Order: sequence, then C-alpha cells, then structure tokens
Amino acid sequence: MLHKIFLCLPFVIPTAAAGDRPNIVFVYADDHAERAVGAYGSPLTKTPHIDALAAEGVRFRNSFVANSICGPARATVLTGLHSHANGKKHNGGGFKDELPTWAKLLQSSGYQTAMIGKWHIGPKPSGFDHWAIAKGGYYGPTMVTAEGKTKTAGYTTEVITQASLDWIKSSLEADEPFAIWINHAASHRTWMPGPQYHDRYAEQVLPEPSTLFDDYAGRSPGAAASQMRIARDLFGAYDLKLPPEDGEVLGKRGNDLLNSMTEAQRSAWEAAYGPRNAAFAKAGLEGDALVRWKYQRYIRDYLRCVDALDDSLGQVRSFLKDNGLADNTIVIYSSDQGFFLGEHGWYDKRWMYEPSMRTPLIIHDPRAKSQGIVVDQLVQNIDMAPTILEYAGLEVPSSMHGASLASLAEEKQGPNWRTSVYYHYQQRDSGRTSHTVAPHYGVRTKQHKLIHVYDFDAWELYDLEGDPDEMHNLFGTEGAGEITATLVQELQRLREKFQDGTGKAI
Ligand code: CA
Repeated sequence: MLHKIFLCLPFVIPTAAAGDRPNIVFVYADDHAERAVGAYGSPLTKTPHIDALAAEGVRFRNSFVANSICGPARATVLTGLHSHANGKKHNGGGFKDELPTWAKLLQSSGYQTAMIGKWHIGPKPSGFDHWAIAKGGYYGPTMVTAEGKTKTAGYTTEVITQASLDWIKSSLEADEPFAIWINHAASHRTWMPGPQYHDRYAEQVLPEPSTLFDDYAGRSPGAAASQMRIARDLFGAYDLKLPPEDGEVLGKRGNDLLNSMTEAQRSAWEAAYGPRNAAFAKAGLEGDALVRWKYQRYIRDYLRCVDALDDSLGQVRSFLKDNGLADNTIVIYSSDQGFFLGEHGWYDKRWMYEPSMRTPLIIHDPRAKSQGIVVDQLVQNIDMAPTILEYAGLEVPSSMHGASLASLAEEKQGPNWRTSVYYHYQQRDSGRTSHTVAPHYGVRTKQHKLIHVYDFDAWELYDLEGDPDEMHNLFGTEGAGEITATLVQELQRLREKFQDGTGKAI
C-alpha cells in the first residue's frame, strides 16, 4: 500500500488517481425544517454555513419527502424507493436489506464508504466499509460499530462530526474516492442544546407562526386527533426542560437525559436553565400566555440545536478545504424531513402539510460552472440515491422510483420533469406519548395538494398559491369539482405507477 505516504504530506489530493470520480459528503440532519434555514428565508434564524453552501451551489426550493418520518425517510434515500417498495413503511421493521442502495453500488465500484450517526433503519448498515451508529440522547451518546460499543462524554452533533472527520482522514490513506453519510441526530426531539449554545436567542422573542392557535376547523378529523400540540402535548421535563413533577409522563426519561451529562455539562445546564425555570414558576402563566411561553422555549431550544448543525457543516467544509479536498468533493445538505415549528399549533412531523413534507436540499458540486442556482422543479427524497449514483459515475437501476437531480442542478433539464409528487404516511400508533397521526396518502403539484385521510374517509384539497398555510379545505366546495377530479386521477395514476397497493383504495 503506497497510500501510507499521504499521511506525511500536507494538502494531498488522494483522489487524483481516481480520475474524475468526486468524493461525496452527504450531510443529513434530522427534523431540520426549511423554516429554520436562512437560505430558505427563515424568519427565525440565519444558518451561515448552510447559507454559504446554497450561495455557492444549488438550492432546491420545492424539495419534498415521500413519508415524513425518520426511519422510512432514511430507507428511501438509501434505496431511491417509496416506503411500500423498500419495506420500511413506519418506524418499526420491514426494511428489505437485499435491495440495491447507493452505498452498496458505490462500495462495489471502488468507493470507500461510511455511515456515521443516526441509523434507524433496522438491520445493521450494509454497503458501508465503516459504520458507527449514535445511540442515546444529545449528551453522551454511545457509538455502536461492527467492533462494539463506545460510550462517549460529548455532545452528539460534535461526536458525530468528529467521528466523520476522523474517518475521512483515515480514508486518505487510500487513493479511491470516499463517500460518507453524516447522519445527524439533531435537531430531533428533545432539542437539548450543547453548552456553548445555551444562551443563544435567550433575549429574543421569536416570531410566532400565524397558525399557532389553529382550531383545525374544516380539516380532516385526523388533524384535531393528532397529539403533537405545543399547548397540550409537550411534556414538562422531557420536552420543556422544567423540573419534573411527581408521576409526570416521561418525567423519568427527562431526568435520565440530564443524568447522561458529565458534571461540567450538568453545571452549565443548571446555570442556564435554573434561573429561567425559576422565573417561569414565579410568573404563573395560564391560557394563551402559557402556550406562547412553551412555544418560545421549544423554538429557542430547537434553533440552538440547529446552530450546532450549522457549525458542524462549517467544520466539515473547513476540513475539506484545509486538506485539499474541496475542489473534488460534492457536499449535499438535507434533512430526513421538515418539522412543525408551531404551525397549526404543532411540533413534530408526519403530516403531508407543507412544514413537514418540505425538506431543505442543497447540493454543492465544486466542478459546476454556476453558483447560487435555485431550482423550482418538484424533487423528492426518492431522488437522492439516483443523484448520488450519477455523481459517482454509476448507472441508476431502473427499479429506483426517483431520478437524478444532477441535470437540474446544471440547469440542463428539459420540460419532461415530473409535475406531481406522491406521498404516503402509514404509521399507526396510540397512547399518551404517541402522536396518533392518521395514515394518509396524497398528491402535490406546484399549485395544489390533495390528501386522503383514509381511516377517517376524509379528503382535503388546498390551493397552495392562495392558501399556503393550508387552512381552507376546498374539497367538496363549489367550483372545486374539476381540479378535484384531475387530482384524484393523478393520485390514482401515481399509486399504479409506483404499485402502491397499501392503504385503503381510493
Ligand atoms: Ca426525523
């Protein structure tokens, strides 16, 4: 192995011998909503490193998921398939590990491959030369590898970032290109910020969405039945970082999360949250004022976790630059789905409504001629695997549902791109700590969205141009007959095209 010599040389470009095949860094956040990305016009925050990636690369402004929940989203980006076809229809089991994935195809073509961070798919990762699954909460995650388990004392976003950079560094010993999936656990519930982020946003009153006090009138009964309301369904210790009360739901788990901190981390935490909790107890808030307080605590903690994600991306890009890799490394930033940041009074995701169905997607190919491109076409997470395969110079299996975005990124796509996307959420859960979102499928075009909440035999239709907040269900209203018929037909066509026989028939 002549590659060892690279260790001694600064600014080595180890991929030179691999010809044109670029390295690929796929950074995948968890629950990072577009509304919390500066480049997507966030009213809440700036994300300087993500925004810079968009300014230098391509931002997809109509990027959607096919099933807005963690495990299924990961299975879809790996396989290029909708959930029913890859088997991972909900957060339980079912993943068909024998399917082709971008990881397996890159690996067999000579790429060095790695997956570091959240996994949530089920079977041990295949197609990766190295993998390390982060388990646990935000503090002190355990990293599980093929060799065993290692308990860490760090903050999860930083642990995952460092492990990723360590692997990239080790990959430079060989001259084959590398592809790494940096699979963050943030900004998933329970939104616990790292010590250096505790005080961010503390002095700001963050803007509320106009639908924070939604009463769900006119929507499917499934909307009102969902247990993800900021007003009612955030738990004191677990979500809101308040001292647990006796017998409180998830109170012990909230305590366990605090106990996973080191002494220094716990001191910093108490110094930040102790006085705030004391002020909250003294204020004795009720009604709308209490909801507003919960929103502020939730959204501040969420954004603090996003800030760590942004810093992580900055660290990765600096590393690439410092090691002479930036000119031949494609960097992709996306999230497994969006998230409700108070819209409709909610946190969490799952619904086909915009905040949850949308997901940020930015691609920077340093070899591209143009910068700061914004793509309008409807793209979806089924496109991720074909895109990575095309960047790696590999053929896309015809069995994959998605299509490569590389031509859109180069503004070369003709008029034949899809004009609608198909969505199907089908997790059923119940109990006080579950979100009880009813299964539903639907179709979204540039202007309209049709949703069938089939357990309730309910339909929803929105004109997204006139009603971007999806507050006025037009289904069954006067004048909506023609567009409804067109969309039902399109929904049926997509269900047949993707051979989705799951869920109730239309
Ligand atoms: Ca997620």
